[in-house]
Parts: sequence; C-alpha cells; structure tokens
Amino acid sequence: MKKEEKEKKVQIDVNLDWCKGCGICVAFCPKKVYDRMPDGKPKVARPEDCIQCMLCELRCPDFAINVGGEANGRK
Ligand code: SF4
Ligand code: SF4
Repeated sequence: MKKEEKEKKVQIDVNLDWCKGCGICVAFCPKKVYDRMPDGKPKVARPEDCIQCMLCELRCPDFAINVGGEANGRK
C-alpha cells in the first residue's frame, strides 16, 4: 500500500472509562481492527483496515466508540 493511503486511516476513539470490556466490538468488526486487551477492552490495533461500517459503534452497549471523529457529527 502506498504511504499516502496508509496515512488516510480512520479516526477511532474508544472511551475506556465507559467501556466495560464485553468484547462485542472486537467480535463484530469484520476487518479485525481491534485486539482484545487482557481486561477485555479493545485496542485499536489496525485502524488503517477500518472500512467505517460502523458496526462497532452501533453495537457497543455503552456508546463507548466513535468512528470517524467529528466528521461523524459527534465528538
Ligand atoms: S463493545 Fe463497547 S463496552 Fe464492549 S468492549 Fe467494545 S467498546 Fe467496550
Ligand atoms: S467501523 Fe467497522 S471496520 Fe471499522 S473498526 Fe468498527 S467494526 Fe471495524
């Protein structure tokens, strides 16, 4: 992949204070963007693979994930 493409990665914010470590986001992400940390919480390991399907944000029961940053209309 070219360098410019690599830098166009999606902004993924996880509020770890709200996250309870259920692992739903890790399980549902079709691109395996997340690794699961020992406490069950997601680590954004491969943001360059994110296709912005929004499944993680929509499935998170605690609204802890924001994909796309401010472009998504949320902060
Ligand atoms: S789905 Fe939400 S609460 Fe569950 S592990 Fe992912 S970020 Fe945390
Ligand atoms: S938006 Fe989709 S591809 Fe991106 S991290 Fe969330 S579930 Fe994975």
